Amino acid sequence: MSANQGTKRAEGLTIVVPVFNEAAGLAVLHHKLVALASRLRDQRGLATEIVYVDDGSRDETFAIARNLPAEGVDVQAISFSRNFGKEAALLAGLDHARMNAILFMDGDGQHPPELAEKLIALWQDEHYDVVYTAKAHRENEPATRRLFARVFYRVLNFNVRQEIPEDAGDFRLLSPRAADALRQLPERNRFFKGLSSWIGFKQIRVPYEPAPRAYGASSWNLRALLGLSIEGLTAFSAAPLRIASILGVLLSATAFLFGSWILFETIVLGRGVPGYPSVMVAIMVIGGVQLLVLGVMGEYIAKILSELKRRPSYFVAESELREANKASKPVSREAAE
Ligand code: UDP
Ligand code: MG
Repeated sequence: MSANQGTKRAEGLTIVVPVFNEAAGLAVLHHKLVALASRLRDQRGLATEIVYVDDGSRDETFAIARNLPAEGVDVQAISFSRNFGKEAALLAGLDHARMNAILFMDGDGQHPPELAEKLIALWQDEHYDVVYTAKAHRENEPATRRLFARVFYRVLNFNVRQEIPEDAGDFRLLSPRAADALRQLPERNRFFKGLSSWIGFKQIRVPYEPAPRAYGASSWNLRALLGLSIEGLTAFSAAPLRIASILGVLLSATAFLFGSWILFETIVLGRGVPGYPSVMVAIMVIGGVQLLVLGVMGEYIAKILSELKRRPSYFVAESELREANKASKPVSREAAE
């Protein structure tokens, strides 16, 4: 597993911010996070660190991130060797955190820092382990996307012991033991929404209204969403395989009934059945269903293959740590000694 597993972490909070082409809004976000951190320190005595994980941005994101001022908080900037995806960025944050509690937060300003204080209160005062947020309304999303989400969660939660809450976002707080539990999971393919519910412990849902994106554009297109959904489904549910089996049984039963009827018609009633159309329909239906089922099985096999290869989930190209009480500028040799 990761090199940082088993590292002793300090009492405090690491805010993990995945950033992909977020150059335009990063400085503003950082300013708000620094203010949040100083409130946490003054009001709760909570030590805070911010980790920016640059997921192979093609703009100036990393250059900006590594030069953000460490005003009263420790700041880590980590860059990937290429774009590995948000889930990998969250994992890297989890691995590199130097504090024991974790707050995942998007880098586009859609997750309000004020709400973060509420999440932290639920963890510190009420001892919840996983405090997750869920979009209160999805009205402003396109109808197709909402429908897609409904179907997705229906299949995902089909007959499972630990349901994955619908619409839960990645804005979430993990207590030290929840963060540790997540680090112990051995799989390469991460689907944090699912995993952080799967680990159990005391969980609580906080509904919220995401702010509109201030800068840039959402990098999720239909293909990426579809990819993440297949990822989530194959990681958490055997429902597609079961649905495939049920479909097979239903089709065979229909074929049997239909066949009996044809026999009855020919032998007892003595009527010839016009063959061509019925045969064509049967071949097409059965052929189609077989391909579909093969495809579903293929997804699971691909999953097994990718877990088997045991490739790392990401590669770090560059990383920089600036500690608030050592230097306020990028680590310079004179300041360090
Ligand atoms: N992100 C990332 N890697 C990617 C795509 C997105 O790290 O390949 C980050 C992005 O910078 C942002 C967060 O993930 O901080 C959420 O992305 P986005 O706003 O595009 O998604 P949405 O809010 O529309 O779900
Ligand atoms: Mg966003």
